[in-house]
Amino acid sequence: MTAKSNAGWLKVVGLGPGAEALITPEVSAALADATDVVGYLPYVERVAPRPGLVRHGSDNREEIRRAETALGMAAYGRRVVVVSSGDPGVFAMAAALFEALEALEVAEPEWRGLDIQVLPGISAMLAASARLGAPLGHDFCCINLSDNLKPWSLIERRLRLAAEADFAMAFYNPRSKARPEGFERALEVLREACGPERLIMFARAVYMPEESLSVTTLGQAQPEMADMRTLVLVGSSQTRLIPRPVESDKEGGEGAESESTPWVYTPRSVSGADA
Ligand code: SAH
Repeated sequence: MTAKSNAGWLKVVGLGPGAEALITPEVSAALADATDVVGYLPYVERVAPRPGLVRHGSDNREEIRRAETALGMAAYGRRVVVVSSGDPGVFAMAAALFEALEALEVAEPEWRGLDIQVLPGISAMLAASARLGAPLGHDFCCINLSDNLKPWSLIERRLRLAAEADFAMAFYNPRSKARPEGFERALEVLREACGPERLIMFARAVYMPEESLSVTTLGQAQPEMADMRTLVLVGSSQTRLIPRPVESDKEGGEGAESESTPWVYTPRSVSGADA
């Protein structure tokens, strides 16, 4: 595609974890001004249709082709928003976009001059952490447990090193139907490295009507507690619980389960002796 006008732009945005209220005003403004929305179909469907807006939903594994399409449309003069859930820079479309831009250096050198912006969003680990209290209150790391784009041996190595460094951990893409055994193995590695008493949290569909939260220990955790809509958090050795009174009136009590989930937090300091 050759450039038709230079008025086009491309914004890679994060839609947050699910609730409308967690979309930033900056992202809402970009969506209101866009001619095209590009992304994984369920995320594109979170953007309301309106006259003058073309929605291009595609399959999950099409990130690079999707990025090329978006760049091509922006070069043509369209105002293009590429959507991700959460934050676009966390295991999402922003990196795919730059991979495509770099790979197309020879074929489309002028694309590097396009007006491209990345607009942040609230990532699942931040939303899940807020629901639970402050489990990421001290140093933490975050690992994608999918081995689609990296070898499983690297995931296992990072889990062991993160446990050794006593980080709290946030896990994205913990378990899918296509790779059910990986998370089971991850739990084994963590049990071995952190012990059975270490806290683990499952935050599913956070900020959506079907949200569920559970807090347990590595010793009690079952692989089936996680799926692709779950963000898993593991505490550091310092992470603590504050029990909350169980709601007495659970009648028709949607959300009653999360009302009685304890607060989980990681203190901000570690004494010299512990370090
Ligand atoms: N860019 C996204 C992450 C994409 S990877 C972000 O910043 O949040 C997809 C993974 O994110 C899912 O497998 C799940 O682990 C997590 N995730 C996304 N939305 C979620 C939600 N509402 N509740 C819990 N986990 C979520």
